Amino acid sequence: MNNSPRTIILGAGLAGLACGYELAKLDKPIIIYEKEDQIGGLSRTIWIKTAYGDFGFDFGGHRFLTREKEIEAFFFEIIGIGYIEKRNRSSHIFLKGRYFDYPIKPFTALLQMPFSLTIKAGITYWYAFFRYFYARRKIIDNFEDWVKFRFGSVLYNLFFRDYTQKAWGISPRTISSIWAAERIKATSFLSIIKNSLLPPSPESKIALTLYKQFYYPSRGIQVLSDLMAEKITTNGHNIICNSELTHISINDGQINSIEFSNGDKIKNFDNIVSSIPLPDLIAAMGDAVPSEVKTAAQKLIYRDLILVGIMLNKPEALQDSWLYFPEDQFLFVRISEPSKYGREMCPPNKTAIAAEITCNQGDNIWMMSDEDIIEKVKSQLIQLKFVNEPEVIGSFVKRITHAYPIFDLNFQENLTTILAFLSRFENLELIGRTGTFQYLNMDLALLHGRKCAFKLAGLSKDSVLEISHDHKWVG
Ligand SMILES: Cc1cc2nc3c(=O)[nH]c(=O)nc-3n(C[C@H](O)[C@H](O)[C@H](O)COP(=O)(O)OP(=O)(O)OC[C@H]3O[C@@H](n4cnc5c(N)ncnc54)[C@H](O)[C@@H]3O)c2cc1C
Repeated sequence: MNNSPRTIILGAGLAGLACGYELAKLDKPIIIYEKEDQIGGLSRTIWIKTAYGDFGFDFGGHRFLTREKEIEAFFFEIIGIGYIEKRNRSSHIFLKGRYFDYPIKPFTALLQMPFSLTIKAGITYWYAFFRYFYARRKIIDNFEDWVKFRFGSVLYNLFFRDYTQKAWGISPRTISSIWAAERIKATSFLSIIKNSLLPPSPESKIALTLYKQFYYPSRGIQVLSDLMAEKITTNGHNIICNSELTHISINDGQINSIEFSNGDKIKNFDNIVSSIPLPDLIAAMGDAVPSEVKTAAQKLIYRDLILVGIMLNKPEALQDSWLYFPEDQFLFVRISEPSKYGREMCPPNKTAIAAEITCNQGDNIWMMSDEDIIEKVKSQLIQLKFVNEPEVIGSFVKRITHAYPIFDLNFQENLTTILAFLSRFENLELIGRTGTFQYLNMDLALLHGRKCAFKLAGLSKDSVLEISHDHKWVG
C-alpha cells in the first residue's frame, strides 16, 4: 500500500463497497465502517439452515437490471459469468379476487374487470386522456392528482390508491408528484397505446421496471457484496463491522475527527465517504449543525420493512416470480419465490416464499411478535392456495430499517437544506440510496460508489449527486 490520502467509508452496502473496491484496486488506503454484523446493506441474503438443506432469502428478491454498460460489465467482472443466471420475470397484482398483469396494462385491465366497472373506468380513463392533452401544463404537486390526471379516477382507485397508501404508509395526497412522475413514467399515454397496439419495444427502449428478463447470481445477491469485500480485504484494507458512526467533529468547512461505537477515533484521514442515512450523519455532527438543518433531517421519512420467509417441502409454490397485494386484508405487499431468481436458493425439490411487509419502526405491525407475524402470513398464503399447512418446514422474520426513501410533499425542500449544509465540507462525499435520499437501485448505487472513487483518485471530476434519475424504480 502507498502513502496516498486515506479514505474512511461509512457503510458497507453496495455503494460503499464499490467505492472501496475501486480505491483499493488503485492502491489507495481505505477503511470501511459498518454498523451491522454483516456487509451488504439492503442487498443482503440471509441463509437459513434446515434439516432439508440451506434456504436463501434476499431482503426482497433483488433482480439486477441496468442500462449502464459499464455497470453491467462491473457486475460480470465481480461475480463471474458462470455464476450469473438470466431469468424471465412474471408478475401479477391481486385485486378483488382476481390477478391482473403487472406492470399494469390499462387496456388489458379494462377487459379483465367486471363489465360495469370497465364502463366506469373506460369513461374516466378517456376523460382523463382528453383532459391531459387539453391541460397538461397544469401544476400538480401530489401523487393522487398526478395519477388521476393521466389514468382517470376509477383506475387510480383500483390500482394505485390502496397500494401506494399501504406500501409507503402515507396518503397519496401527501406524496410528491415527482415520485409518480418517475415511478410511472413508463406508462405515458403514448407508451400505453403503443404497448397495447404494437409489438413490444426492445428492452433498451422501455423503463427498467418493465424489463422481462433480469440477471441474478445463482446463490443470492449477497455474493456481489461478499466478492467486492474479499477483493478489498485481500488487498490489505479493513472492513470493520459492528461499528456504528457515533460522532463527527467539524470545523472550518472540514471534518476533523470521527468516532465509532467500537471505540475507534480517527483524526488522520483525507476524505469521508458516507453511504449511511442522511439523518444519522447529521445527528452525528451534534450541536455544530444549525437547527434548520437538524429539523430538515428529522423530517426525511424512510419506510421500513419486515421480511418473512416460509420454507416449503415442495418444488414450486407460485407461477409468478413475484406478486403484489395492495389490499389491506393481506399483511404483505409483495411475495416472491427465491428459486425463481437463483436456482441454488433452495435445496433440490424444496422451495420457499418470501413475504415483504412495509411498515414503520415502532408501529403496530413492527411491534407484532415474530410468531404472530408468521402465523398471519402463513394463514394468508394458505387462504390464497399457495401453501398447504403440512408443507411448511420452517420460517423466520427479519426487520429491516431504511428500506425506502419516502418522497413526501416537502422532501425536496428538506433535502436541499441538508445538502447545502453538507456541501460546505470539502472532505465529505455522499453516495448511495440511503446516503443521498434517492430511490436508487443496485446499478446506480454501484455507479455512485465507483464514480466517487474515481473522483477521489483524481481520475474524474464528475459529481456523484448529479447521476441521472432516469434508471430508478425496481425495488
Ligand atoms: C425490498 C427491496 C427490494 C429491492 N429490490 C431491488 C431489485 O430488485 N433490484 C435493484 O437493483 N435494487 C433493488 N433494491 C434496491 C437496492 O437494495 C439498493 O439500491 C442498494 O442495496 C443500495 O445500496 P447502498 O449501499 O446505496 O445503501 P445501503 O444498502 O442502505 O447501505 C448503507 C449501509 O450503511 C450502514 N449504516 C447505516 N447507518 C450506519 C452508521 N451509523 N454507521 C455505520 N454504518 C451504517 C447500513 O447498515 C448499510 O450496510 C431493493 C431494495 C429493497 C429495500
